Amino acid sequence: MSTSHPREERTLVLVKPDGVKRGLIGEIIHRLEQRNLKIIALKMIWATKPEMDKHYPKDEAWITRLGEKTKKTYDKYGYDLKGELGSTDLFEIGKMVRSWLVDFMVSGPVVKMVVQGVHAVDMVRKISGQTMPSLAEMGTIRGDYSVDSAAAANKEKRAVHNIVHASETPEEAKHEIDNWFTPEEIHAYKRMEEDIQF
Ligand code: ADP
Repeated sequence: MSTSHPREERTLVLVKPDGVKRGLIGEIIHRLEQRNLKIIALKMIWATKPEMDKHYPKDEAWITRLGEKTKKTYDKYGYDLKGELGSTDLFEIGKMVRSWLVDFMVSGPVVKMVVQGVHAVDMVRKISGQTMPSLAEMGTIRGDYSVDSAAAANKEKRAVHNIVHASETPEEAKHEIDNWFTPEEIHAYKRMEEDIQF
């Protein structure tokens, strides 16, 4: 991990097109700031496909994991994986889900931001709630504002609309921040409560 002090941990947050179109940008920023997480870079963009393609990992393990998640949903709800997606190969299915995801992420503007604070990566994931909104706890962004599920999404062959993206690990955060921001676009400043809080 590249940061020296825990309060300097950084993560990347994207308000996905569904979050932007539903007017949830302010609510999301509010929830992050309320938890003493500091927004140190912020911009609205309408990404191109190649830009979004660079954002999501391309390694086999990550893609296969997406396929595994999808298979779990199909098993849970008794759907026919092969019948609906034409394959049972988890890597092939993962690639399919990844392409739905990229299509969704370029279907409208997104708001990208770098968020800094103690355990920023885990904190933002916690505030966001788990991937599938239908399972996300109340009080999380996904739990409070979405009811989408993989079952519904996969029936329609699209990505789950779950309002936000948040990096999963500090290493992933670094890769994602480098993908979306230049160092000059990231700003260091002190929030008032920093002297009191810690
Ligand atoms: P997270 O965004 O919580 O880190 P993942 O990295 O597993 O979740 O997946 C990336 C994104 O891909 C999710 O946020 C969601 O939009 C979409 N997604 C994941 N799994 C599926 C699936 N089975 N069907 C449709 N979309 C999915």
